[in-house]
Amino acid sequence: MSPYKAEYIWIDGTEPTNKLRSKTKVIPNGEEPPVWGFDGSSTNQAPGSNSDCVLSPVYVCPDPIRGGDNKLVLCEVLLPDMTPHASNTRAACVAAAEKYADQEAIFGIEQEYTFFDGTKPLGWPDNGFPAPQGGYYCGVGSDEIFGREIVEAHSDACIEAGLAISGTNAEVMPGQWEFQIGPVPPPQVADEIWIARWLLYRLAEDWDVSATLDPKPVKGDWNGAGAHTNFSTRAMRESYEPCVQAAEALGAAHELHIHQYGDGIDRRLTGQHETAHWSQFSYGVSDRGASVRIPWQVARDQKGYIEDRRPNANMDPYTVTRLIVETCCGALAQSAAPAAAQAVPAS
Ligand code: ADP
Ligand code: MN
Ligand code: MN
Ligand code: MN
Repeated sequence: MSPYKAEYIWIDGTEPTNKLRSKTKVIPNGEEPPVWGFDGSSTNQAPGSNSDCVLSPVYVCPDPIRGGDNKLVLCEVLLPDMTPHASNTRAACVAAAEKYADQEAIFGIEQEYTFFDGTKPLGWPDNGFPAPQGGYYCGVGSDEIFGREIVEAHSDACIEAGLAISGTNAEVMPGQWEFQIGPVPPPQVADEIWIARWLLYRLAEDWDVSATLDPKPVKGDWNGAGAHTNFSTRAMRESYEPCVQAAEALGAAHELHIHQYGDGIDRRLTGQHETAHWSQFSYGVSDRGASVRIPWQVARDQKGYIEDRRPNANMDPYTVTRLIVETCCGALAQSAAPAAAQAVPAS
């Protein structure tokens, strides 16, 4: 039997926003993808004099582009002593997820992005601007929609790879789109976002189109690109009070979170275009101008999840999900402890 191709995908050390890298390893049929390595001096992850970095597989799935027995192999980056590299944000995400595993946290992430044709958004005129925003969101028709064939190929690829993609839609700015991954637990949701991003970039190559996660790809009266992060614990899925407590906890930790929600967050969170200003925290039912939204169905059903609308499209999902788990699960663990103690009758 012939060998298969494994595409090793990893996150590099580019600042301020890490980039995806990948290379191919040909592996004998029947063998699992082994630990591998790369030249960290070419990815801002090591000095040339001591350049070896380790690729340790964390998520392996079928390669929907090459098909057959070929695989995609998402890796975390380790130092040669097998400890996490400074650029490896997954390790801390795993630690937080394990610490609060009993709360059964799950996330659904809405990844927005923008297609570019050279230096302009896909479908935009060579000179000037398209008609103002209003008809493009969830639109239909060749005067409003640009790149749908790529979006279809991408969602098919995510499904074939076994990712938990839950939907796609055209966004408010023409050429801008969204896909959602989840709800699944951390770090899986973040692993799948990174693989889905890689598939998007790779598939768009075939149309000579690039996809960008720039949080504000066009200045002015055009929507930015975010990564709304929907979150719940088992307690939140069972009753309303923990949903409110989680939103309050996010408010108390606003400063800590906002600076780790993606580079250029002040360009996107201006207080306009369905955003709350980056310097202020707010939450509310159905409020798309709030930092955190409690969906109306959640208020009606008195249970469910909350939506953190602050993360930029270019955020690191390992970092964002770690922060939310630490802040919200930390607060919910504290509020659960005294309640349990009170339930014990005094002897
Ligand atoms: P919006 O109305 O904000 O555009 P979307 O439908 O795009 O909402 O995304 C909602 C996301 O919330 C989906 O990814 C979905 O999987 C996720 N979600 C639904 N229920 C939960 C839950 N209980 N916990 C976490 N995420 C959830
Ligand atoms: Mn959405
Ligand atoms: Mn959206
Ligand atoms: Mn949303």
